[in-house]
Amino acid sequence: MNAYDAARMADVLGQQGYAATDSVEDADVVILNTCHIREKAAEKVYSELGRLRVLKGERRAEGRDTRIVVAGCVAQAEGAEILARAPAVDVVVGPQSYHRLPELLEQSRGKRVVDTEFPVEDKFDRLPVRRNKGVSAFLTVQEGCDKFCAFCVVPYTRGAEVSRSVPAVLAEARALAEGGVREITLIGQNVNAYHGAGADGEPATLADLMRAVAGIPGIARIRYTTSHPNDMGEDLIRAHAEIPALMPYLHLPVQSGSDRVLDAMNRRHTGDAYRRLIDRIRASRPDIALSSDFIVGFPGETDADFADTMRLVADIGFESAFSFKYSPRPGTPAAERADAVPESVKSERLAALQALLDRQRHAYQNAAVGRTTEILVEKPGRHPGQVAGKTPHMLAVQVDAPAASIGTILPVRIVEAGANSLFGEILAEAAAA
Ligand code: SAH
Ligand code: SF4
Repeated sequence: MNAYDAARMADVLGQQGYAATDSVEDADVVILNTCHIREKAAEKVYSELGRLRVLKGERRAEGRDTRIVVAGCVAQAEGAEILARAPAVDVVVGPQSYHRLPELLEQSRGKRVVDTEFPVEDKFDRLPVRRNKGVSAFLTVQEGCDKFCAFCVVPYTRGAEVSRSVPAVLAEARALAEGGVREITLIGQNVNAYHGAGADGEPATLADLMRAVAGIPGIARIRYTTSHPNDMGEDLIRAHAEIPALMPYLHLPVQSGSDRVLDAMNRRHTGDAYRRLIDRIRASRPDIALSSDFIVGFPGETDADFADTMRLVADIGFESAFSFKYSPRPGTPAAERADAVPESVKSERLAALQALLDRQRHAYQNAAVGRTTEILVEKPGRHPGQVAGKTPHMLAVQVDAPAASIGTILPVRIVEAGANSLFGEILAEAAAA
C-alpha cells in the first residue's frame, strides 16, 4: 500500500510541475513514505532523517532549499515526536491527507506543517488521473481496518475500514489499462472485506469488483492482497474457479497455528478453521499457490504453541511467506502484556520457521522445472538480452527475449531453478511467431 501511496503522491506533485528523480542529491523535495507496522521499520525513519539533515545543511550552505516531508503511518502515529526529534523535517503528512501535499509544501515556507487529521473529504476524489509506467500496478480499493488484532497498529494509523466505490475503482483501472498496465493487484488492509457501492448504489463484493475489472480491455491478470481468513466469502472462493483473469495465488495471513495464541491475538478463528478454509479454496482452484504471514514470539507463546505453528505450515505447504518476530507497538493491547517472549527465543523460533518455509519455497520452485507456463513480462532481466516476468503462481522467471516483449504474455518452459528465480525458455512456437 505504501508503494501505491508513493505513486499517487508522485501523481499529485507531477500535476504541480514536479518530476520524480532517482537521486536524493537532485531532489528539491524529499518524501519519506514510512511504515509503522514494526519497530524496526519505524526506527529506520529516524536514521534516514539524520542523513537528510546533513544533506539539507550542505545544500543550504550552497544557497539551495530542500524540503523534507515525512508521510505514511509513522507520520500519522508520531507526528509530534518527529518534529521534536528531527529538526530538518518541514512537513508531516498522514496517509489520509497526502492529496494536500502541494498546499502543505506551499505552507511550509518558513514554518513546519503537520497534517495528520483523518479528513472528511475522500483523498481519492482529490487525486489526479492515475499515471503509471509499469506493466503491473497496485490499485487501492479498500483502506483501514476494524478488526483490532491485539498486536497491530493499522486500525489506529490507517483508520476505520472504508471501501471505494466500484465506478471509482473502474475509472482508475481503465486509466491504468490505457497507460499499458496488464496486471492489476487490488489492495487493501482487508481487501476481501471490500463492500464498495456499485453503480446502482448497492454494495458489491470483491468478487463482483474483480469480474468488472476483468472486463476492461487490456487487463490480463488480476490479483488481490491482503485478505483476512474470516472474510473469505463463498463467492470469493468461487471466483477463483470462475474468473480466468484471477491468478491462482492467494496471500492469506494466519499469523499462528496455535488456537490459544490466535485467540490472544484476537484473530477470531482457529488453526483448524484455517485448514478447512484452505481445503475449500483448493477444492475451487486446485493449483492455487498459497502465501501467508506469521508472527513468532507473541506474548505468552510457548514451545507447544510454536510447535502448532510449525505443524500448520507443514500441513498446508506455502509457496512463499513473510514471517516476523513479534514487535510490541505502542497503543496496542498486546504491548501491555507482561509475559513477553525473550528475544533469543523469538530468534530461534523465527530461524526454525523460516528454514521450514524456505524448504517449502524451494520445493515449490523445483517442482516447476520442466513445466510449461506463461509469464507476463514486466521488465528487463538481470543480464543483457534477458527479460523478467512472473508466472500465474507468482514465480519470478528470467528468459532470453527482446525488451520489446515487455508487457506481453509469453509461453515458457521452466528449465532451471536458481537461488531466487527460475530460468525459462520461450516455447518454440511462440519464438517462431
Ligand atoms: N491485514 C492483514 C495484515 C496487515 S499487517 C492481516 O490481517 O493479516 C502485515 C503483517 O505484518 C501482518 O500479517 C503481521 O504478520 C505483521 N505484523 C503486524 N503487526 C505486527 C507486530 N506488532 N509485530 C510483528 N509483526 C506484525
Ligand atoms: Fe492489523 Fe490485519 Fe488485524 Fe487489521 S486484520 S488489525 S490490519 S493484522
